[in-house]
Amino acid sequence: MSKKLLLPTSIVGSLPKPAWLAPPEKLWSPWKLEGDQLLEGKQDALRIALQQQHLAGVDIISDGEQTRQHFVTTFIEHLSGVNFENRKIVKIRDRYDASVPVVVGEVARQKAVFVEDAKFLRKLTEKPIKWALPGPMTMVDTLYDDHYKSREKLAWEFAKLLNEEARELQDAGVDIIQFDEPAFNVFFDEVNDWGMAALERATEGLKCETAVHVCYGYGIKANNDWKKTLGSEWRQYEEIFPKIQASNIDIVSLECHNSNVPLNLIELVRGKKVMVGAIDVATNTIETPEEVADTLRSTLQFVDIENLYPSTNCGMAPLSRNVASGKLSALSAGAEIIRKEFGM
Ligand SMILES: [Zn+2]
Repeated sequence: MSKKLLLPTSIVGSLPKPAWLAPPEKLWSPWKLEGDQLLEGKQDALRIALQQQHLAGVDIISDGEQTRQHFVTTFIEHLSGVNFENRKIVKIRDRYDASVPVVVGEVARQKAVFVEDAKFLRKLTEKPIKWALPGPMTMVDTLYDDHYKSREKLAWEFAKLLNEEARELQDAGVDIIQFDEPAFNVFFDEVNDWGMAALERATEGLKCETAVHVCYGYGIKANNDWKKTLGSEWRQYEEIFPKIQASNIDIVSLECHNSNVPLNLIELVRGKKVMVGAIDVATNTIETPEEVADTLRSTLQFVDIENLYPSTNCGMAPLSRNVASGKLSALSAGAEIIRKEFGM
């Protein structure tokens, strides 16, 4: 951060796409354009996502995932060794069925996936840029593997490919590379066995900052139903934070607002930067700035203020554009309340 701004705001990842690009308010929404028009449409959508964040006063800019259909499968579909035409239905995150690509041979990254998009966004803003990639474990949990027959082995292969992509994103001027690992909140034994090691392999040699996002998922029915089964205290982070704390990852992105996560679990990653989710992505109700400030304030006992990064609980792809814009503004206004309280 060049200006040493306190409480820099950012979104976790996705924003709703314009309706002319993909039908709104659903996941895996199909593109409405094709060929050169699709390429142009994606770039226009990137411009809009950037402007939306600029207008709302967001400090760290994301691409809003405007050029990808889904935060995991789009990356997988760009690799060789994957068949994404004959998809299979599998249960992902131990929770819901999804139509996913199939690994049919050795996976390799023949060409960059998001690097051109990152260069394009880099030219349009002076602000720091954060780019999200799927984490290795979440990737293996969002496909059907007909080749490696080992989640660990496949995750390790993905980690190497993610590292290639991450290095090129860094060279394109990305300031923070974030790996999305919602699967970390489900498969604790695997995280501790090999998931965290694979994630660190993906970040190997990076000089830019790195983040891991671990959440309770998009605001879709399957996730909301799952949350209802988790009881009055969600202690999933307790299982994995010690491993994250011991890692080289700089930033931890977590879900806080309207969640049953005991906030004192944040103490387990003391010293890391923490992207505190102060916006609920599972409701259309727009938070007031005071509500955002309350959530941020309540975490200050467990995270030093210079490490507090106000953010959203998860991606906002399934929301309407108006709701998402309102939530972005609330995030900035809430952060501003706390800055004022601290005389900044
Ligand atoms: Zn998430």
